[in-house]
Amino acid sequence: MTASSIPACTTADLASAVRRNEFIPYFQPKIDLHTGAASSVEMLARWDHPQRGILPPSQFIELIESAGLIDRFTDNLLRQSLLSAAQEAVSGHMVGMAVNFSALTLQDPQAVLRIMAMVAEYGIPPEQITIELTESLSADQLSPMVRSLTLLRSHGFKISMDDFGTGFSTLKLLHAIPFTELKIDQMFIAGIHIDRKRTAILESIMHLADKLHLRTVAEGIETAAQLDFIRALGCDVGQGFYFGHPVPLLSCGAEPAQLLAA
Ligand code: C2E
Ligand code: CA
Ligand code: CA
Repeated sequence: MTASSIPACTTADLASAVRRNEFIPYFQPKIDLHTGAASSVEMLARWDHPQRGILPPSQFIELIESAGLIDRFTDNLLRQSLLSAAQEAVSGHMVGMAVNFSALTLQDPQAVLRIMAMVAEYGIPPEQITIELTESLSADQLSPMVRSLTLLRSHGFKISMDDFGTGFSTLKLLHAIPFTELKIDQMFIAGIHIDRKRTAILESIMHLADKLHLRTVAEGIETAAQLDFIRALGCDVGQGFYFGHPVPLLSCGAEPAQLLAA
């Protein structure tokens, strides 16, 4: 189902859903493939809709953006997530957290300053936050975004290029933005052990990341065979249903070390 298939959803409906905290953070572990520890989590938004149940982002992110509500939505979700992170930190379980920001947010200097202030307010070190950015950007979005991301990076935030390998201006972006991580799109992981072309592409990505001193993350790992393959290639971090589905608890890392040993 696409976003447009939610019919009678007005801007006022969406705004009150934001106010009522119906948009909630789910978390999926990102596993350090060298140690087996759940080194961080990715926050993935869900709409806890009163009639329709839990809805994925494909059914609301575009609506939120076109209704001009992305700022309120992002602030609200980030606040809920930082609160959970701060509570975990108090009990001694500080893990890093990755968040997906819309290109719209990163073009707005005020939004970026607000995000930095919020992270400071909850006492979370910026080094614990990774901003995941997708490659699907147009040229006119680039300069304001480079400024925002350079500022965030200079304050210690980490920056990940999400869905790596699916965009159009990858190398230009890699040059312009101070990334710390490459997140290889799940299409390269699916069928990895039977497709020599994908393997060759993956090997080249690993080589490029090594040269640029970037951490590599493989997303969409669903099987032990995919995990073995990706580890043999030297990938740093893994994420996918094999380790755990997104869940509403920040402390979502199941028993990754055992899965690695299996
Ligand atoms: P993404 O950042 O590439 O997130 C990965 C997606 O793959 C997530 O879908 C996740 O649930 C799914 N996934 C994780 N492991 C596996 C696996 O092993 N197999 C398969 N087939 N899928 C897996 P989800 O949660 O539906 O999110 C879709 C997209 O929505 C995200 O893609 C991200 O671009 C966007 N998104 C999510 N939360 C936010 C948010 O708070 N703000 C913004 N602007 N975008 C968001
Ligand atoms: Ca992501
Ligand atoms: Ca992705």
